[in-house]
Amino acid sequence: MIERNQPPATGDEGGLVYGQNPDHQRPDWDEYFLQVMDTVATRANCDRGRAASVIVKDKRIIATGYVGAPAGLPSCDEVGHLIKVAYDERGGQHKHCVRTTHAEANAIAQAAKHGTAIDGATIYIRMTPCLDCTKLLINAGIKRIVCRKRYHADHDSIDMLTQAGIDLVVMSQEQLTYDQMA
Ligand SMILES: [Zn+2]
Ligand SMILES: [Zn+2]
Repeated sequence: MIERNQPPATGDEGGLVYGQNPDHQRPDWDEYFLQVMDTVATRANCDRGRAASVIVKDKRIIATGYVGAPAGLPSCDEVGHLIKVAYDERGGQHKHCVRTTHAEANAIAQAAKHGTAIDGATIYIRMTPCLDCTKLLINAGIKRIVCRKRYHADHDSIDMLTQAGIDLVVMSQEQLTYDQMA
């Protein structure tokens, strides 16, 4: 008869109880949700920035989003980018792909579509949010933002988040531009 939950008799258990594995490294909660965010990012469909977001409340994922064209419409990967040029106050030129909605906005839209309250939640994202997403996150009631890295033009966003009293955690001060995120 085979006993359940009994180890195979190896004769070399090394003093450990069967199933005991003190060397296994568990990620902490923030790293865990960032790793989920990395997986969500594989669904993004614009190679100028395959970003994603995961909204979490009480250690439970309640919404996800990734950079992409509106649902049912052709994506950048299929038909190419829809590029618009913007000029900054110093005359600098910046190209943006406007076909897509950002990951943070898509997660908020998903929550709205399904009637999920995100007030007081945490959002996990790849880099500090752009100004438009920053304003959306503040108004949606997000209280904590965890990012892997910095977006190179995030100073206005950080100012607003600070004024709004939102807890911003940036894991690495390394800066990314959208083109580095393909
Ligand atoms: Zn694009
Ligand atoms: Zn954004």
